Amino acid sequence: MAQSYDAIVVGAGINGASTAYHLRLLGAGRVLLLERGGVAAGGTGKSAAVVRQNYSTPLMTRLARKSIEKFRAMRQELGQDGGFEQVGYFMVLAADHVAGQVANVAMQRSLGVDVHMMEDAEIDARLPWLNREGVAGISYEVDGGCADPIRTTEAYVSAFERLGGEVRLKTPVRALTRAGDRITGVLLDEGSLAAGTVVNAGGPWAHFLADSANLELPLRTVREQDTVWEGRPNRPLPTGVISLATDGLYIRPLGQRRFIVGRGFPKEYVDVDPYNYKETADDAIVSLILERLEYRIPSFAGAKLIDSYAALYDVTPDWYPFIGPRRGLAGYCDMNGGSGHGFKVGPAFGEELARWIVTGQVEPDFAGLSHDRIVEGRLFTQTFGGNRG
Ligand SMILES: Cc1cc2nc3c(=O)[nH]c(=O)nc-3n(C[C@H](O)[C@H](O)[C@H](O)COP(=O)(O)OP(=O)(O)OC[C@H]3O[C@@H](n4cnc5c(N)ncnc54)[C@H](O)[C@@H]3O)c2cc1C
Repeated sequence: MAQSYDAIVVGAGINGASTAYHLRLLGAGRVLLLERGGVAAGGTGKSAAVVRQNYSTPLMTRLARKSIEKFRAMRQELGQDGGFEQVGYFMVLAADHVAGQVANVAMQRSLGVDVHMMEDAEIDARLPWLNREGVAGISYEVDGGCADPIRTTEAYVSAFERLGGEVRLKTPVRALTRAGDRITGVLLDEGSLAAGTVVNAGGPWAHFLADSANLELPLRTVREQDTVWEGRPNRPLPTGVISLATDGLYIRPLGQRRFIVGRGFPKEYVDVDPYNYKETADDAIVSLILERLEYRIPSFAGAKLIDSYAALYDVTPDWYPFIGPRRGLAGYCDMNGGSGHGFKVGPAFGEELARWIVTGQVEPDFAGLSHDRIVEGRLFTQTFGGNRG
C-alpha cells in the first residue's frame, strides 16, 4: 500500500517552504515537502527579494504588510533570520504615475503602512545622488527593504523539519494521481504516495504537474534578467531599495557598494520553456541597464559588473497568484503564479493557505485568490502600483 501523508507540498521555493512550515505549525499532521532539486532551486534562489508593501489593492497590501512583520520576527519564530534589511523603499515617478501612486499611498496608509509622498527637502536629503530630470514625485515606504531569498527559504525548511515535517530533496514528482474529482497523491520514480491534500507549489513548472492530472493552470513562464554592479568607492550611492518607474529599473543594495539592478515595469516579458532557457543575461540588457542607471544616478559612472543572470517566474493572466482549493476538486491546492512579485508575500501566503487547509477557514479576500476566479470570470484588474515584477 502507498505511504500516506496528510499533506504533500511539491516545490521547496519560498511558497512551498512557507506553506509546509505553517501546515506543521497549525497541526496538519504528517506533512511531506518534495523538491526535485535543492531548497530554493527555482525562481526563489535568484530573486532580487525586494520586500515592500507598495501594491494597488488592499488584499496585496495587507498580505505584504503581514509578511514584513514575519520577516522582522523570523529569528524569534524560525530560529534563524531571512537576512531582511529594512533599508526603506523609494518609488520614483514620472508625471503620469503620480495621481495613481498618491491614491495607492492613501490606501496603504489606511492599512497602517508607514509611507508618504516626499517633499523636495526630504528628497534632497535622502536621495542627493538622483538626477531629478523627468521626476514628478517620489514615495517613501519606511518599512520596506530586501531579504536573502535562500536564507529565508532555508529558515522555513529547517523550522519545518524541527516541527517534525519530512523533506525529500532531489525527488521529482512525475505526476499527480487522480481518482475522479479527487487528487489522491503523487507519483515518484520509486512509486506513489497518498495524500489528503497535495499543494502544487511548483512555480514555473507547476503547470506540468497540473497537466498530469488534467487540471487547467494558465501560467506563462517569463525569463527575468538581473545584473549586479559594484559602485566606485567614495561616491554617494543609494542606501535603500528603489523602483525607478521613470526608467523601468529597480535597484536593491547587496552589501557594501554592491547592487542588484533589474528591469522593472514597463518592459517586455519574454516567454520561455522552463526546462530549456538561457541562464545568463543578454549583453543588450546589461548595456541598457548600465546606460539608464548612469543617467538616473550619475555616481554609478564607472560601476563594475559583478554578475548577471536570468531566472524564471510564473505569471497568471491577472498577475495575482493562484492560491487555495478549487471548487469541485478535493485533495488539491494551488500555490503558484508568484508573477514576479511572489517572494515578499510568501510568508503570509503560506500562513493563510495552511490555515485554510487545516481549519477550512479563510479570510474572504484571500479566498479570491483561488483559481476559481478564472472559471468565474473574477480576475483582478491591473492598476499602476507595482503589482507586476
Ligand atoms: C530574477 C528574479 C527577480 C525577482 N525579484 C523579486 C523581488 O524583488 N521581490 C519579489 O517579491 N519577488 C521577486 N521575484 C519573484 C519571486 O522570486 C517568485 O515569485 C517566487 O520566488 C516564487 O516562489 P515559488 O516558491 O512559488 O516558486 P519557485 O521558487 O520557482 O519554486 C518552485 C520549486 O518547485 C520545484 N518543482 C517544480 N516542479 C517540481 C516537481 N515536479 N517535483 C518536485 N519539485 C518541483 C522547483 O525545483 C522549485 O524549487 C523575482 C523573480 C526572479 C526570477
